[in-house]
This record gives sequence, C-alpha cells and structure tokens, in this order.
Amino acid sequence: MAVGIAGIGMERGSEMDDIGKLFSTFVDAVALILALVLVVSILHRKFGKPWLHVVLMGGMFSFALVVSMSDPIQLGPGKIFDMRGLMIGTAVALLGPAAGLITLTTGLAYRFSIGGAGVWVGTSGMVLAFAGGLAWRYLFLGRPGKMWKHSFILGVMISIQALSFFINGMPPLDRLVPLMSYVLVTNILGSLLLTYLLRGELSFLSEAEASKIEANTDHLTGLLNRRGLDMIYPKFADHSGTNRGWALLCFDIDHFKQINDSHGHAVGDDVLKYVTEKVGSNLRPNDLFARLGGDEFAIVLCNIDRYEAKRIAQRCRILVAESGVEHAGRTVKASISIGAIWMLDHSDIDLILDEADKALYAAKSGGRNKVVFKARSDAPAALGSLQFAM
Ligand code: GH3
Ligand code: MG
Repeated sequence: MAVGIAGIGMERGSEMDDIGKLFSTFVDAVALILALVLVVSILHRKFGKPWLHVVLMGGMFSFALVVSMSDPIQLGPGKIFDMRGLMIGTAVALLGPAAGLITLTTGLAYRFSIGGAGVWVGTSGMVLAFAGGLAWRYLFLGRPGKMWKHSFILGVMISIQALSFFINGMPPLDRLVPLMSYVLVTNILGSLLLTYLLRGELSFLSEAEASKIEANTDHLTGLLNRRGLDMIYPKFADHSGTNRGWALLCFDIDHFKQINDSHGHAVGDDVLKYVTEKVGSNLRPNDLFARLGGDEFAIVLCNIDRYEAKRIAQRCRILVAESGVEHAGRTVKASISIGAIWMLDHSDIDLILDEADKALYAAKSGGRNKVVFKARSDAPAALGSLQFAM
C-alpha cells in the first residue's frame, strides 16, 4: 500500500485533493476487480485441472497487482498508495495459499526491481498482508456467520500490512492516522467487493458443476448414466490414443424380475450394486462403465486386443456368478449375459450399442449366463458382416 511515508503533509486543501484522488483510484481498482472476477470466472469454466486453475488465478491476481503498483495514487511526496495488499491478501484468503504465494512473489519481485528507500517497508507490508489473508482463511473461511462480517474482518486483517510503517521507527501521528485510514478503508471496501463477487461467482460455478455431475450419474450405483456415457464417450474416444482396438460390452442381469418378485425391490437394488462392484473390480481405471437403465449396463474398453477383451468379458460373467447377495440367511445368486463387440477403431456410440445389444440378445437366447463376442478388424463405417468369434 504505502511504499514510503516520508513527507506526509496534511493541509486542509490537499486533504480534499487526496480524498478525490483516492476515490478515483478506488473506482479504477473496482473496474480492475470486476475485470478480474470476469476472467476468473472464464478460467474456472475453461480449465478443469486444479493445478492449472491455481496457476492461472495466481497469474491473474499478479497481473492486477502489477497494474495497480505501476499506476499508484500519489498523495504527496513519499506517499504512494496502491492495491497490492488487497490483491495479495484476498488471493491467499479466497483462492488459497498457492495462488496467494504466486501473487506475493510477483509483488516482491516487482517491488525489489523498483528499488529505492522504501523497499523494506513495501515488501514487509506485502508479507504482512499475505499473513493476514492466510490467517483469515484458516479462521473464517467456510465458518458459520454473515458473509459481510467475514469480508469486513478480512479487510481489517489484511490491513496489518500497515505495521510495516513502523519499520523505520514511530511515524508522527498526524501522518500515521490518515495513512492508516486509507489502508483500512481501501482494504475493507475492496475485500467486501471481491468476496461478494468472487465467492458468489465461484460457488455458482461449483453448484453448476455439481448439478452437471449429478445429471450424468446413476444414483444407485454411482456409475455414469446413459446421458453421462453419451457425453463422455466422444472425449474418451478422441483422447484414448490406441492402435490395439476397442471393445464395447453390453450386459443385462438374468431373470432380474424374478429376483425382485421373490426377494423384494430392496434386494434387487442390492443385486444391482453387487453386480456393479464385481464387474467394476475387473476393469481398468480408464475404462468407461455405465448403467444404461434398469438392469442393463455398458462398458467401453480402449487400447485392447480382441483376446484380452474376450477374457475380460468372460471374467466379468464368472465373477458375478460365483457369489451373490446375502439376504435373510441365504445367498441370492445372480448372473449376467454379455453381448460384446471388438473393433480396430472406435465408432459412433449408438451404432456399436445397437450391435452389442444384438449380441446380448443372442446370449439371452443361447441360455443366459453367457458371453457372445463379435470381432472385426476393418474400420467400421457401418458394422455389417460381423464375424462371430465365440
Ligand atoms: P432377462 O433375463 O431376459 O433379462 O429377464 P429379466 O427378468 O431380467 O427382464 P428385464 O431385464 O426386462 O427386467 C428388468 C427388471 O428390472 C424390470 C424392473 O422391474 C427391474 N428394475 C429396473 N430398474 C430397477 C431398479 O432400480 N431397482 C430394482 N430393484 N429393480 C429394477
Ligand atoms: Mg434382465
């Protein structure tokens, strides 16, 4: 905030001038903060990776800090005023220590590069603002209480940067009081504004993200639902570089209606979870596993040859059939029928689901608790003339 406090003369006329300058600087800072919130919001939507998110946020706050420091308000000789404490303190408080450290490092480097007599006052003020913001984060973030009260306290806590004014000894009171007032007013108003805009925006975005995940997830099993599979499959297909092949396994629980009728819907639900767990334990972390609806599921395997795909399909079937769900002192057994297709290159999800469904139908007609596996080695523009391999 204040780089140096030498020469603070506070005559009446200059006092009014100072307030006017402070006000216009604050309006500039508000514009900067609004731009900052807008960019933060865009970055948040665009970049899902948390580390990249932190680096970009820290970068944005650093940029705002440098803009503010390179055009400070001049309140007379030696009285230079900017928003560095606010930027560093709110970055660490609202975005976390990593984003705060990026902003602090930028501020320190920039201040050292300017040099001059006020280097230690300026740099220690920044470190203090960081400490104030960090303490606020651990004491108040997410704690019950009114947001405006927490934001007000944040402004006060960041203002411990003003302790740096005492580095060269006790300044005269008639100089210290107005300067402290500038620091407090700017930090409190800035914190209120940034907290409301930034936290409002971030919580809106995380709620939007949560409802998107919710809409794509099956509640009973925690798997992707059909909508989620449709959404993820094109990205999955584009990013899973493979030359070994692809497989789609479509399976359905055998005589599931009977399980529901004989043991009740709740046991039926347990069977659905049991099947999900057994089959899921046999898959690789990158495979896609979705519940299409009712007792029908789909698995997409990438970078897999036909023999391995066939082995995985058989193993899923065997794993489900070998045990069951404990209910009323006995084991409710379940089995699945699987229709699987393997191809050298991936294809449209609806097209391959349709083909896998036909193979599943063949597995049901063939007596259930079976795998019907089809493979083809040419690129499937349309999946005709499939060769039965099992
Ligand atoms: P098939 O061997 O031919 O597949 O016979 P099936 O009895 O399993 O027949 P089908 O697959 O058509 O039966 C699906 C049943 O799944 C019908 C429905 O009552 C039941 N179901 C669908 N969703 C749920 C659910 O979330 N929980 C439970 N418990 N049952 C469900
Ligand atoms: Mg069924």
